[in-house]
Amino acid sequence: MEECIFCKIINKEIPKEFRFESDTLVAFDDISPSADVHILIVPRVHIEKMLDLNKNHSNLLVQIFEVVNRLVQENNLSGDSYRLVVNGGRAQHVPHLHFHLLGGQWKKMV
Ligand code: AMP
Ligand code: ZN
Repeated sequence: MEECIFCKIINKEIPKEFRFESDTLVAFDDISPSADVHILIVPRVHIEKMLDLNKNHSNLLVQIFEVVNRLVQENNLSGDSYRLVVNGGRAQHVPHLHFHLLGGQWKKMV
């Protein structure tokens, strides 16, 4: 997807420090954080939205939750507050599926 900003980040056309990287997923800090910790977990494959997910993505979805677990531990959030958010419809601004991991103090809505 040539014009997709997250595809450009994944393809390293836009420099970004990854907090996690595998053959299927990347995770990086949100550019405009809504909480003390605000990390985006993004599949490398361009899936536009949550409603496009199907059983062929079951392994990918398990991997996403494994990365979430790892990031929760790494950021010492398990005894604090954390939340996983997927926006859809008009609430989704970047049309490449991503999960927001939010932790600590909230500042604003995602
Ligand atoms: P959503 O509204 O769920 O599509 O969320 C998109 C998120 O991507 C927002 O929280 C933005 O702040 C974030 N975002 C947009 N561009 C970038 C970027 N270049 N690097 C990191 N995060 C970004
Ligand atoms: Zn994309």
